[in-house]
Amino acid sequence: MTHEVTLITGDGVGPELAEAARRCIDATGVAIQWDVQEAGVDVMARTGTPLPDSLMASVRRTRCALKAPITTPVGTGFRSVNVFLRQELGLFACVRPCKYYPGVRTFFASVPVDLVIVRENTEDLYAGIEFPRGHLETAEVIDAINRLCSGRKIQTGREETGVSIKPISVSGTQRIVRFAFQYARQNGRHKVTAVHKANIMKHTDGLFLEVARQVAQEFPDIQFEDRIVDNMCMQLVQKPDLYDVLVLPNLYGDIVSDLAAGLIGGLGVAPGANIGPDGAIFEAVHGSAPKYKGLNKVNPTALILSGVLMLRHLGELEAADRLEAAVAAVIAEGRQVTYDLKPHRDDPTAVGTREMAEAICQRLVG
Ligand code: NAD
Repeated sequence: MTHEVTLITGDGVGPELAEAARRCIDATGVAIQWDVQEAGVDVMARTGTPLPDSLMASVRRTRCALKAPITTPVGTGFRSVNVFLRQELGLFACVRPCKYYPGVRTFFASVPVDLVIVRENTEDLYAGIEFPRGHLETAEVIDAINRLCSGRKIQTGREETGVSIKPISVSGTQRIVRFAFQYARQNGRHKVTAVHKANIMKHTDGLFLEVARQVAQEFPDIQFEDRIVDNMCMQLVQKPDLYDVLVLPNLYGDIVSDLAAGLIGGLGVAPGANIGPDGAIFEAVHGSAPKYKGLNKVNPTALILSGVLMLRHLGELEAADRLEAAVAAVIAEGRQVTYDLKPHRDDPTAVGTREMAEAICQRLVG
């Protein structure tokens, strides 16, 4: 069976990484028909938008994309091109596996970190409901809050106060927590930990926790527990091996997933997926690293491992396992790896993006 996949080449280091990841995925032997689509600052200079209609149409058709990083151009009307894509395509779940591969440089090399962060993508302070300081609407919002709120009021001046709203719903929480449990079940995982600040934000995080507890009852085969987010951060640094799948509202998910990426060696090795009922986009956690553009320098691992997640999503489990094993073997050997995986960043034996991808392909076919 041939899978049709949109390949979003991005900008900055994106095109080099997209090419490297595509070569490795093709080397697994899985038949993929790539629909290559440009995005970002380069295509914007020609077409006036960083996200051409043809790209959106392609992802809607294929329902599956591998996406290299995209710079959010300043002054386009997009708060973030990446957030826009997720919202427009209804990709409500962000999945970020954080697994340690021997050979990667990290302070936590002695701990077998193998976490999956499931972040809600559509609600919370990231919903974009914001009121700037000094605007008329902001003053109205502050007045309304002070009139309606039975608890504490906003006591600072209307002209000096900005307001961001944090909506969290029953349906949004049910959807993400069910997703986390289903992911755990399908991927042989044993425990889901809900992360929140319910002791302080009782009507948003408290609701998240209440709904998470209800949903957990639908999955008696998977353990459930919860942690307050500050305690969670400390525990992840002290004993990350105690945790398995974490499910979090949007903002904590953003922060904790970077913390977890730090545990396993940083941005160069952290893959991700954004998944919704009508499709999925697989992408590295890192951005377009513009200063390295065209230098054949940065680490392709994060996007290649995003490709591993994509192969699993497409049902190509055996090919996914082979590709992951090839990546792990090249990293463990430590010879044909990029500068960030060497003991010193200026190590003259470091290879480029292309060469590391080539070494992974050789492992696959050799
Ligand atoms: P960045 O992730 O692009 O780069 C920060 C630093 O991390 C780099 O300078 C580099 O030292 C290191 N790094 C990143 N990727 C690496 C790799 N593959 N190998 C080795 N080292 C790597 O973050 P930034 O500079 O804050 O963002 C640049 C642009 O990317 C911004 O416009 C931002 O909006 C965008 N961005 C896009 C995405 C996405 O497409 N999903 C995600 C984050 C940021």
